Amino acid sequence: MSVKDITIFNNLTRTKEKFKTLEDGKVRFYSCGPTTYDFLHVGNARALVVGDLIFRILKTVGYEVNFVRNFTDVDDKIIERAKEEGVDPLVHSQKYIDECLKDMASLNLLPATHTPKVSDTMPQIIDMIKILEDKGFAYVVDGEVFYHVPLFKDYGKLSKKKIEDLQFGKRVEVDSRKKNPCDFVLWKPAKEGEPSWDSPWGAGRPGWHIECSAMAKTFLGPEIDLHHGGIDLMFPHHENEIAQSEAANGCTFSDHWCHNEFLNFGSEKMSKSLGNVITIRAFVETYSGEVLRHILSSVHYRSKMDWTKSIIERAIGEIERLHVFYKELMGMPRTDKESQKDFDQVVSTRKKMEEELSNDFNVPGATSELFSLIRYFNREYISNLGEGISEKLFSELISLLKFYSNATGLLYDNFDEMLGHINHARKSLCEASEKLTDEEVEKLIKDRKEARATKDWSRSDQIRDQLNEAGIVVKDNPDGTYSWHYK
Ligand code: AMP
Ligand code: ZN
Repeated sequence: MSVKDITIFNNLTRTKEKFKTLEDGKVRFYSCGPTTYDFLHVGNARALVVGDLIFRILKTVGYEVNFVRNFTDVDDKIIERAKEEGVDPLVHSQKYIDECLKDMASLNLLPATHTPKVSDTMPQIIDMIKILEDKGFAYVVDGEVFYHVPLFKDYGKLSKKKIEDLQFGKRVEVDSRKKNPCDFVLWKPAKEGEPSWDSPWGAGRPGWHIECSAMAKTFLGPEIDLHHGGIDLMFPHHENEIAQSEAANGCTFSDHWCHNEFLNFGSEKMSKSLGNVITIRAFVETYSGEVLRHILSSVHYRSKMDWTKSIIERAIGEIERLHVFYKELMGMPRTDKESQKDFDQVVSTRKKMEEELSNDFNVPGATSELFSLIRYFNREYISNLGEGISEKLFSELISLLKFYSNATGLLYDNFDEMLGHINHARKSLCEASEKLTDEEVEKLIKDRKEARATKDWSRSDQIRDQLNEAGIVVKDNPDGTYSWHYK
């Protein structure tokens, strides 16, 4: 299969570039994964969904992708939290890796090709530190190994920071063992009760940055095509990954770098330390994974986004429209009458969607093209159900929806489950819904049915008003059936 051209905004050059890979048709792609000490929040989900969108779109345009997303399972925060709970740190982090995998499944993330853990990568991490020590980039003080930043001439090439400015900013730093304030830890001696591994520098554990350099090299090779992470990771994490990998391997580390912007809560970034955290799990239980996935893919990955009630409401409405369109299309009768104009419109929408996705992964652009088409077909076909649709046009539309679903990971909930989720989600957003319990709603719906059966219209209208005040709309169909939903 031939590969379509795509462009990516490369943060290394701060320009949009034609994406060229080391090997034709193949991509070596690394994305920094989560630190597993607690349930992840919806901000972390943005980084996960963006990594998955990049993976999916690269596959959609024809690339064979070797995708690595790690789990940081050895870390200060994990050790602290495990100590508080009186459990072994690796048992604690495995528990949250398992929870994270459940969240990833609920967001319809494709499994990465490799999902290494730090605790399983120790020999490779130690090997890389040894190479850095042999080449003179690392030095040892009291069993602690530091990377000597000034020796790496390209330091700052990603974040565009200068060592001189950084040194100035770090004057207050107290660690006098460092030769330069910018130097960072590669290996640290373990303290009592902490997990540790034997090494040439004594029992200890790695600093944070070295794991990604070692994992990328192990699973993708010394040079890779694309590296992704949240924007907060650009400095110092990614800058340090470059310094380690390029010094150890003697070649460019990653040819392209892309970073997703933050999800902010109010005007502040969402983080556990700010206490404004909504976990993926809690959100998905109320609103569904597909609604969260749609929220996170409805804004371009390089734009900041705010977590607001209106963004949630809009996503619920759009997901509903998407599924209802698919369902209604499936139920349309066939006709022999062809409409070349409508067929051409589907073909041209597909082309425009492909162009958007190939243009720096513009998922919102592709979604907007699809919704224009859905509006047109709702107007011309769905409201005229009896007219039917030709087999050729039907197949083209189904193939378009499948293409969109593969590229974006949306449209995966089963229809009836999705309707249940949507109703539950709307109820959660509707403050008036608290006026009636589920049991009271059920009883009123039943009473209304009885009132209508006995032609007690005033009672039926009164119940309808009461339900309406609690945010519920009852719809009577011409065939005598009825349905209800939250506003
Ligand atoms: P951490 O577990 O803190 O290392 O974060 C895992 C990933 O989530 C990293 O790529 C972070 O950049 C990303 N991340 C954390 N908080 C947010 C947020 N509020 N918005 C977007 N990405 C985030
Ligand atoms: Zn990393």
